[in-house]
Amino acid sequence: MNPVIALVGRPNVGKSTLFNRLTRSRDAIVADYPGLTRDRQYGNGVLGGKSYTVIDTGGIGGEDEGIEAVMADQSLLAIDEADIVLFMVDARAGLMPDDEAIANHLRVNQKKTWLVVNKADGMQEEVAGAEFWSLGLGDPHPIAAAHGRNVTTLIEHVLEPFPEIGDEEAHPELLEDGIRIGIVGRPNVGKSTLVNRLLGEERVVVYDEAGTTRDAIEIPFERRGRPYVLIDTAGVRRRKNVSLTAEKFSIIKTLEAIKECHVAVMVLDARTGLVEQDLHLLDFVLSSGRALVLAVNKWDGLEADVKEKMRSELKRRLGFADYADLHFISALHGTAVGDLYPSIERAFASATTRWSTNRLTTLLHDAVSEHQPPLVNGRRIKLRMAHQGGANPPLIVVHGNQTDALPEAYKRYLTNTFRRVLKIRGTPMRFEFRSGR
Ligand code: GDP
Ligand code: GDP
Repeated sequence: MNPVIALVGRPNVGKSTLFNRLTRSRDAIVADYPGLTRDRQYGNGVLGGKSYTVIDTGGIGGEDEGIEAVMADQSLLAIDEADIVLFMVDARAGLMPDDEAIANHLRVNQKKTWLVVNKADGMQEEVAGAEFWSLGLGDPHPIAAAHGRNVTTLIEHVLEPFPEIGDEEAHPELLEDGIRIGIVGRPNVGKSTLVNRLLGEERVVVYDEAGTTRDAIEIPFERRGRPYVLIDTAGVRRRKNVSLTAEKFSIIKTLEAIKECHVAVMVLDARTGLVEQDLHLLDFVLSSGRALVLAVNKWDGLEADVKEKMRSELKRRLGFADYADLHFISALHGTAVGDLYPSIERAFASATTRWSTNRLTTLLHDAVSEHQPPLVNGRRIKLRMAHQGGANPPLIVVHGNQTDALPEAYKRYLTNTFRRVLKIRGTPMRFEFRSGR
């Protein structure tokens, strides 16, 4: 798992400037998740061979809200999810009462905290840092986020205890433990009700109760003699033992679950319909390449006309994810919950099957003879051979000539034909076209 760095500080100290630098620098692999939460921003970056996730608490605060409210709220959530806190202050503004208020919160926190003095450009480092010693958070680290001064050095220092990117970044491996099912969705859609329902009738083998707020919990279980692992982001098991209050929604936990699963079951709420946060989460599942099953929950007790309207609206708005099976369930009553399994199995199989070059090439030739690619400059585009370049999600590599000139519509035709003939459901699929000459 990536180390998670939270940027904390009063408004205007330069948090979003640093966030942008850390997630958009030339050698940073950018994956931005804007809008996952209203007030926090998440991004990934790579520096010195180490990858990390940054949380910016930037959008918060303002004069009317008061620093206490802010600290109690967004920043604390971000700190909860983080391994490292970068507490930012402003060298130009100097030490402010709000800095002290934040420092008081941070001092009692267990997280490793770095005092970062921003806007030190054009200042001597000792001078920039001097007045912040009194915060009692150790050495001040002067930087200039806007110019990049000292930023790389600071982050390399901060990341020192964490390992370099290794092979664990690769896809989760199968399969003695079975298909790994990630249950994801925004708060209150019914994830924990669904997890309990899925486990209720089955044999839970063992489960790991340890972990922090942000770790998704893995629960191995068996159904009809087959092993599965549920990746629970709702904190069901812990909730039972510790308290009945809903756990805080953790984006990090959700992103981690998506990364660690074979098939994501995205839970939606029929009572509210699709909201923006659903779409952002969905977007992340799609760009992760994960196999996907959609479950519209709370389908019980709705009037027939409401159901009809909701069904067609969801089909329309989820058109961009139409490779995924769409189920209408009631986790509360158990209705249609069992139907999720065949979809999960099929999505997994689709994502991981390997097809022979022979099979794929024959399929390509059949598709081409049914519909010829167009002429380009008087020459017909030729598609000769297809092979599988990878799995999970499947990658089909098509070889030919002038493939750069293939119209989008023809690519779509090929994708749809391969999907239909190979019976690929529940996983995204990628095509690559290569020209021989
Ligand atoms: P946030 O509210 O903490 O996210 O702060 P911003 O990143 O929006 O920055 C607030 C202001 O400080 C902006 O006008 C930035 O251009 C400016 N700023 C940020 N970093 C630096 C820096 O290193 N030097 C100087 N001089 N200005 C900076
Ligand atoms: P989570 O935050 O996604 O884990 O959501 P919960 O499982 O805690 O459910 C949120 C609320 O929705 C609770 O009050 C549940 O009882 C209710 N709920 C969950 N599933 C259903 C369902 O299928 N039908 C109805 N009517 N309510 C449900």
